[in-house]
Amino acid sequence: MPLTESSSSMPAAVLLKPGQIEIQTRPVPSPSPDEILVRIACVGVCGSDIHYYRHGRIGEQIIKSPQCLGHECSGFVAAVGSEVRGFEIGQLVACEPSRVCGWCTQCRTGHYNLCPNVKFLGTPPVEGVFQEYYLFHFSQCFPVPDGISPAAAAMIEPFVTGFCASRTLCPVPGHTALVIGVGAIGLACVNMARLYGATTIIALDKLDNRLAFAARQGATHTLNVTRADPLDFVRSTTAGQGADCVYEASGAGPEVADLLIEAAAINAQLALIGIPADDYFPLLIHRARRKGLTIHNIRRFANCYPQALSLLAAGKIDLDSWITHRFALDQVPQAMELAETYADNVLKALIEM
Ligand SMILES: [Zn+2]
Ligand SMILES: [Zn+2]
Repeated sequence: MPLTESSSSMPAAVLLKPGQIEIQTRPVPSPSPDEILVRIACVGVCGSDIHYYRHGRIGEQIIKSPQCLGHECSGFVAAVGSEVRGFEIGQLVACEPSRVCGWCTQCRTGHYNLCPNVKFLGTPPVEGVFQEYYLFHFSQCFPVPDGISPAAAAMIEPFVTGFCASRTLCPVPGHTALVIGVGAIGLACVNMARLYGATTIIALDKLDNRLAFAARQGATHTLNVTRADPLDFVRSTTAGQGADCVYEASGAGPEVADLLIEAAAINAQLALIGIPADDYFPLLIHRARRKGLTIHNIRRFANCYPQALSLLAAGKIDLDSWITHRFALDQVPQAMELAETYADNVLKALIEM
């Protein structure tokens, strides 16, 4: 018998069709031998949630039956399966949203972010965490050190994408980093570039409040791209050299494709992180070739949670301040609409259970 808190039913914010979410009552599931039942504490609202809420799909991934969205979460251990060791009831955990197979080549070589059999929370047909309890494989749960809030623990999920991108680009002390788009993931890139020792960190965005935020978290130069030419700005900021590390975190696709290449220094590393709406991404191939640029696709993240939690525990990053708005579970639609319209200087909207 698994150890358990007592509760038999729970509320869930179920997406019935695009734009319509209803609070339903569901039975609380019990864990298989290798699972942990988590009582969800906090869930961040992500751009992908908003896409599914509004359009019912992202590319070929289509919502075909009612389900919960949500994947950026933390919670408290409520029950553990009979084979799970090392977790205590009531303990705060940060939960990784990818449930991977564990046996494919990518999983077995440490690249589980590329597992073709992945089930990602809140991506159809996989249920998300806009509900009170959720079953995770134990390997998805990471104990949160003392002193870290459930809200900050939930922000580990967007943070680790920037963590993973930085580990790939590996800025060295004194490098120049360019971050295009400073929503949560771009902010994570700014923070990581700072921690790696980049001395010039340029942030570009269309929203002044996000740029102000980026400046507080380590950006040394910021530009609202609606007001001046970003390439001129990067060139003048870097004495014409360009950036050694370029993070594309805006998802603007073709709109920024030329900028990426032109703003990169010779021998620079580029990370494509943002998810564009377009299928094609133009490449200034001769400029890229002559500069010897290396372009990486960053597909989610792997093996980052413990290190990111250590950074948080050591006070090297501040994720509590990312949360600008808080909502209850029955206010998921309001949270989505706020985040969708960038109203009220929202950076991150959080659902608190
Ligand atoms: Zn997300
Ligand atoms: Zn796998």
